[in-house]
Amino acid sequence: MTSDSTSPIRIAVIGGGVTGLTAAYRLARAGVAVRVFEAAPTVGGPVQTERTSDGWLIESGPNSLLLNDAGVSGLFDELGLSPRLQVAGGSAKKRFLVRDGQVLALPTSPAAFISTPLFSFGAKGRIVRELVRGRRSARTGDVSVATLVAEHLGQEWVDTAVQPFVSGIYAGDPTRLSARHAFPQLWEAEQRSGSLIRGMLDLAKTRRRRGEPRARMVSLPEGLHGIPTALAARLPATAIAVGTRVDAVLRAPEGRWNVRWSSATETGSETFSAVLLALPAAALARLAIGEPEERPLAALQQIESPPVTSVFLGYRRDQVRHPLDGFGLLIPEREKRPILGVLFSSTLFPGRAPAGHVGLTVMLGGALHPERGLLPPAEAIAVARTEVGALLGVAGEPGLVRHRSWPRAIPQYNLGYEAFLKTLETVERTHPGLLIGGHVRDGIALSACLSAGLKLAQRALERPNRA
Ligand SMILES: Cc1cc2nc3c(=O)[nH]c(=O)nc-3n(C[C@H](O)[C@H](O)[C@H](O)COP(=O)(O)OP(=O)(O)OC[C@H]3O[C@@H](n4cnc5c(N)ncnc54)[C@H](O)[C@@H]3O)c2cc1C
Repeated sequence: MTSDSTSPIRIAVIGGGVTGLTAAYRLARAGVAVRVFEAAPTVGGPVQTERTSDGWLIESGPNSLLLNDAGVSGLFDELGLSPRLQVAGGSAKKRFLVRDGQVLALPTSPAAFISTPLFSFGAKGRIVRELVRGRRSARTGDVSVATLVAEHLGQEWVDTAVQPFVSGIYAGDPTRLSARHAFPQLWEAEQRSGSLIRGMLDLAKTRRRRGEPRARMVSLPEGLHGIPTALAARLPATAIAVGTRVDAVLRAPEGRWNVRWSSATETGSETFSAVLLALPAAALARLAIGEPEERPLAALQQIESPPVTSVFLGYRRDQVRHPLDGFGLLIPEREKRPILGVLFSSTLFPGRAPAGHVGLTVMLGGALHPERGLLPPAEAIAVARTEVGALLGVAGEPGLVRHRSWPRAIPQYNLGYEAFLKTLETVERTHPGLLIGGHVRDGIALSACLSAGLKLAQRALERPNRA
């Protein structure tokens, strides 16, 4: 790697999640001396994987990455990850929904759609009507995802399909999530054609015409932590300071920025040409920026980021009655069950469980029931075990259990989110040399965050008078 400590340009990256590491990697490759400050003892943010000596692989945060961006594919090529990517197999395309306590497969063919008991006859008919009629009047203001879909397809589609899918992606509440910001493709689909379904089909056609690759659900044999590990490995060893929290980014002479940090044993400060902030909302809100008493991003404290808990349960195959022939199951709120859903982790990618065993990841909490994301570990595990018992016919003790709680898991792009985006823009404009990116701004999916890191680096390199 070509990062050079004598380079006249020194850039600080605050936050060693995938966004910050990607930005740092790209800057270092361009010959910039970078320094990454990460408060936690390891890089990667929630992208954390454990490999046990007896053959289990446990993801405690994200379980899969939807690779749908040419820039991110290029990044994986550069990092040498592309040939090693695991692509979720055919059976992982199958998804299950719970209806009246039954686990039912989502239809994947027109014939299965007509016969599925998941949707009423009327709800099925709404699909055809929506395709033909769409929505006649142009929309001007933002609406919630629930309103957008209900207007096109009726409330049954919201309750049965949209709400659990929104739980699966954002752990969010579709009546509060902004259609424009949380699901920009759906928003664009309506803007383009007046019909959500036609618009989505058009968007897919456009992607194909542009030669964009088909989206693939991927991971790595060593798990998703392999991504931050690969990025970090390409930075000089001294470029990353873990266990080092940044408390202030203050104006210094000649348009530079002074970064004040503290670790368990010491405090310090260093001066940089520019600073990239790749932090979660709460950390941005707390950060002193400009002068020691100024907190221009304090309003971001109001961004809802509800807790989510992940419980991994490992069983012998013969303890589980369900074939686990899919991605996992999602649970509509109206089923009144205490979990968000279950991922069939060992079906999704190979090498997640020892031979003759299976791994399940149960998610709890989110915007509709944040208190469940904060249950004491023993209670969360008990709930998870009861639910997989009832839904998947799991019997007996798990051979392996892991619990991880994320108190502020995923920022909710709720209605009114543009006010936070404007605050970010204003702070960048009034503090030249500070650039902000990551899941608070660019999308919450891993792919969006990797792309955000590439964009941050590009913007830093394009700054006028960047030294
Ligand atoms: C439980 C869970 C499951 C998820 N599942 C999926 C999934 O399956 N697929 C998917 O695509 N996405 C998933 N996501 C979302 C995705 O993981 C995140 O959006 C993404 O990792 C965010 O990356 P980031 O670099 O922008 O932020 P982060 O990873 O949050 O990085 C920010 C870093 O800043 C550090 N930091 C905070 N304050 C300071 C400070 N003052 N000084 C220095 N460092 C600081 C933090 O420790 C952190 O490492 C999931 C998220 C969670 C929590």
